[in-house]
Formats: sequence, C-alpha cells, structure tokens
Amino acid sequence: MKKEDIKLLGDAHIATSIDTPLRPDAFDKSDNEKINAIQRHFEAIMHELGLDLTDDSLSGTPYRFAKMYVKELFYGLNPNNRPKISTFHNKYGYKKMLVEKDINIDSSCEHHFLPIVGIAHIGYIPKDKVVGLSKINRLVDYYAHRPQVQERLCLQILKDLQDALETEDVIVVINAKHLCVSSRGIKDKNSSTTTMEYGGNFIEPEQRNSFLKLID
Ligand SMILES: [Zn+2]
Repeated sequence: MKKEDIKLLGDAHIATSIDTPLRPDAFDKSDNEKINAIQRHFEAIMHELGLDLTDDSLSGTPYRFAKMYVKELFYGLNPNNRPKISTFHNKYGYKKMLVEKDINIDSSCEHHFLPIVGIAHIGYIPKDKVVGLSKINRLVDYYAHRPQVQERLCLQILKDLQDALETEDVIVVINAKHLCVSSRGIKDKNSSTTTMEYGGNFIEPEQRNSFLKLID
C-alpha cells in the first residue's frame, strides 16, 4: 500500500471487514512465545528512538509492553479467551426490552494502536433465553480488547449476542472518544463518535426510540 493511502485509510478510520483480520496461524505460538518476540521487537523500536535501555527506568519497559499487549490490551484476539455466555431459560416469560447501560469500553484503534475509551448501551428483547447481566459486560470487554474499529466493535457485539440469545432483537450503541483524534492528527479534544447497530424489532423506529429514550 502507498504511504498516501495508508494515511487516508487511517484518518477515515475505515474497516475492511466485520471479522477481525487474523491469519490462520494467529495462535500457533503460545502467549509466552509472543511476549518474548514482542519484547525483542519493542526493544528495537526503543533503541531506534535513541533511548538508553540500560537505564533502570527503561530496561523493563519492553517486557512490560509485550505482556500488556498479549495479556491485557489484546487478550480478546484469542477466541479461547471469549467469556462463556451461559444463558438461562426465560422462565418468567419476560418479553419486554431489557437494557444494560453505561458499560465501559476500553479498546484500541487498529489504525494507530491508541486507546478508544467510552461506553456501550445494549438492549434486547428476550425470547426463550436470558443471560446473566454481567455476561454482557464481559462480552463487551472481550471484543473491545482487540485492535478495533468502532463500527466493527458494535457489529461483533451485536452478532455474538444475537447468536447467544437466539434472537435478532438486539441493539448496541457505543459512544467513544478516540485518542488518535484527540492526541494527534486533528487534535480535537471534545468530539466523540457514536455508532449503533441493531436487528429484529429494533428496525421499527418506535422500538428503537423507546430504547434511545431509556439510555438518554
Ligand atoms: Zn485511529
């Protein structure tokens, strides 16, 4: 790709697919093997920047960085880390909308590897299945912890919940600030981005509006 196109795609924050682009061999290496390799690579980056890695304050940084990438910021790349979403039979017959508000989003932009910070609101209308509430938060956390594009994050959470709950009647709204917009490039400190994905009953404006009123 040409340098000009690289810049354009990053500034526009465009994703190429709903699935996170992963290679088939993405998890052939163990986490520890990845940490060791990334540690070496990041050491080289710091070295290129002219930093003195024999300094006590810097010497442990490549390891800390590598461990943070594999075990924390990007643990959600590995499907083995997907939280188990146990569902229960909807024995109360609750068939109205259920809303989970203000779920933390801690993600990273895949174009600049800088934080995306915000909140998600999720609503669904149960059919035969209901889910433990904290499981929704865990699922959001899992998909957020990959290099992301906000639109894709919204869609990945929606699809997974639709599958787990066996209903199309799910809506996901995310409002987030992108550090790549506030700390570099245009350096806009105030703007935020809102994305919304939904299916089933939420296609009806009335249903969607009653959800939006609740999260207002
Ligand atoms: Zn970015």
